[in-house]
Amino acid sequence: MSGYFKDIYAGISTALVGMRITWNHLFVKNVTIQYPDEKHDIPERVRNRLYVNMDDCIGCDQCAKACPVNCITIETAKALPDEELGETSTGNRKRLWVTQFDIDIAKCCFCGLCVPPCPTVCIFMTPVFEFSEYNREDLIYRFSTLTAEEGAVKTANAERAKQEAEAKKAAEMEAKKKAAAEKAAAEKAAAEKAAAEKPADEPSTAPDQSDAPATGTAPTQSETPTPDNNG
Ligand code: SF4
Ligand code: SF4
Repeated sequence: MSGYFKDIYAGISTALVGMRITWNHLFVKNVTIQYPDEKHDIPERVRNRLYVNMDDCIGCDQCAKACPVNCITIETAKALPDEELGETSTGNRKRLWVTQFDIDIAKCCFCGLCVPPCPTVCIFMTPVFEFSEYNREDLIYRFSTLTAEEGAVKTANAERAKQEAEAKKAAEMEAKKKAAAEKAAAEKAAAEKAAAEKPADEPSTAPDQSDAPATGTAPTQSETPTPDNNG
């Protein structure tokens, strides 16, 4: 019977202890926040979702090369000579169309290694840290300002210009080779003609020993006057 009353006492006393703690916390400053209506301040250099300012991107691929998990995919096409792409805010001239710039943020490990190599400071971490999606495909961020069709046109233009430049270069090389061959043939023909026109009895241009001047040298036996048998 005494155990029965002891249990009632323990129940009431522990309930009162709990109520006292709750009462005391009514007058203490909150340590929790009403997320997501309220959010903590995040540190200045926090690593969150990446963003690329395509106005300043020159398509140099440095960020993709630095990425240890290959989650950045960049495709570019060289602009045609009559296409002026302008400059970035850092003064770099843009020469390439960036036909594809995808970041698969599902693979990203937020190492931040892609940020420092960027010469135009156009890829950076943002304060956004809530970007869950239902579909993995939605975690691939596509930053290119060109549509797939526009990108295909730019790529085809660049490829055609490249082929034309290569054909022009090959034609120039061929023309140079042909000119050199024609020059060599003309020189050879001139030499042959000169050799054919030379008289047979014309002394050789190289002085032979019998023609050598006798200056300061003893006359050769052929040039030494032979004594006249009659005299
Ligand atoms: S933060 Fe790291 S993993 Fe993510 S895209 Fe940049 S380099 Fe790649
Ligand atoms: S490093 Fe910068 S400029 Fe170069 S492709 Fe990446 S984002 Fe663009």
